[in-house]
Amino acid sequence: MTDSGVPSVGLVFDDRYLAHNTGLWLIDYVTPFPFSDPVPHVSGPGLVGRPKHLMDLYGVTDHMVRIDPVLATDDQLRVYHTPRHLKRVATLSAGAGGETGIGAPMGPGGDRIARLAAGGTIAAVDAVMSGAVRSAYALVRPPGHHAMANQGMGFCVYANAVVAAYHARAVHGAKKIVILDWDVHHGNGTQDAFWRDDQVLFISLHQDDLFPVGWGAVDHVGEGPGQGFTVNVPLPAGTGNAGYAIAFERIVTPIVRQYNPDLIMVSAGQDASIMDPLARMSLTLDGFRAMTRTMMALADECCDGRLVVTQEGGYAAQYAPYCSAAIGETLVGMTAIPDPYGGRAETIPASRLAGLDARAAIDHAASVQSRYWRL
Ligand SMILES: [Zn+2]
Repeated sequence: MTDSGVPSVGLVFDDRYLAHNTGLWLIDYVTPFPFSDPVPHVSGPGLVGRPKHLMDLYGVTDHMVRIDPVLATDDQLRVYHTPRHLKRVATLSAGAGGETGIGAPMGPGGDRIARLAAGGTIAAVDAVMSGAVRSAYALVRPPGHHAMANQGMGFCVYANAVVAAYHARAVHGAKKIVILDWDVHHGNGTQDAFWRDDQVLFISLHQDDLFPVGWGAVDHVGEGPGQGFTVNVPLPAGTGNAGYAIAFERIVTPIVRQYNPDLIMVSAGQDASIMDPLARMSLTLDGFRAMTRTMMALADECCDGRLVVTQEGGYAAQYAPYCSAAIGETLVGMTAIPDPYGGRAETIPASRLAGLDARAAIDHAASVQSRYWRL
């Protein structure tokens, strides 16, 4: 416990995360950039450096316990990744860097940083499962939820949440783990890893068929023993705080309660924010606070508060860092971080009302999942 009586919260952060080099690139250009002045890749160091800076500035990290990341070992990565992927990343890392898969660039020495990201999520799981802290925020980079067994993808090199969930199972005896992925893109790597697995319940809320195309459809529910343990909630562009709140109330909360996990993990990408360049959703700071509170309450109810939040995307340079920092401050029970643009984002209707298209999408997902859960 901290002196304020709030249960202790761990923070994984390391300056080396800032050195992961994604280069200069606009996403839909085949040449690096059309401008005379270079535009940095959206998945830059600010993804984690700025939230850390804000949490320091507003005194949030004063209430957190520092957790040092470790380097994920070959054995830890091989629970999901193929030797071929590990070899490719190692070879690129030893040379000039390059493309670890589809849209997942890395600079020289990047293997070590990607291993620190996976190992940072593992360290957060260790701290939470051992009882050293109640919950933890792994503010790691590069992110992980798009990485596939055989290749990096969508800015992700290794599947951080996947390898950490395997670790929770193998080392700490977790029998049932929830991975809730609210990144606006579909968590295809995580889904793929646990597609035929009932010991990990994967729930993804994402913008419908945004990235990767073809993944995350509402009727993709897992196979074999994993059938019903993959929950996809594709939402229409424009869904905001009110729509997400309904999705959590109608689908996430009842399913997590019925599953009753030993550990809850959140793949937290803040790219469903209203300012994001890579998606078209409308969440504000309050939306991210509300989702965090819901997951904390579910962790309290099911598993003594054991909650690991791991960083995924979030590309609005001035806004996403506030959303990420707001997650950290919610974990420690603070509300000190202001909206950087005042309350303007809250004036949009999507903050107060769910559109008919969002309601229809949530109804549809609930109807599909009602084959497996009482909804
Ligand atoms: Zn994303």
